[in-house]
Amino acid sequence: MTIFSKIIAGEIPCYKIAENEDFFAFLDINPLAQGHTLVVPKMEVDYLLDLDDKTLADMMLFAKKVGVAIKKAIPCKRIGLTVIGLEVPHAHIHLIPINSEADMNFHKPKLQLSADEMSKIAELIRSKF
Ligand code: 5GP
Repeated sequence: MTIFSKIIAGEIPCYKIAENEDFFAFLDINPLAQGHTLVVPKMEVDYLLDLDDKTLADMMLFAKKVGVAIKKAIPCKRIGLTVIGLEVPHAHIHLIPINSEADMNFHKPKLQLSADEMSKIAELIRSKF
């Protein structure tokens, strides 16, 4: 079971943003920006491009809804979407509020946010659906 499957199952806590039958979204624990969110399929597949066409298409539509809500909650120019997947072997899309290309740089130091700040960000995004 991957760490993301454990999060989906509620065995590991997370700051949940949204969920439907097939997908789950929650705040990245080491965010590049406030509102940095991960969208994952409940189906445990390592590599995003190994997902079947329908799951991948549906995942993008789910990510769109989540990204639109993040954009309403967090002041930013755009929501950047990226896929890395080198750390956790469970397909996921990063949704990151950005104002410049440099905001997508994963080498940047991550934000140190308190549990209270993370909870408030998650609550604010949830309120924008
Ligand atoms: P990637 O696999 O795309 O290279 O990176 C995995 C991402 O998942 C990282 O941004 C990391 O901060 C995030 N991550 C790893 N473990 C956890 C976790 O247990 N909870 C949460 N919320 N995020 C995690």
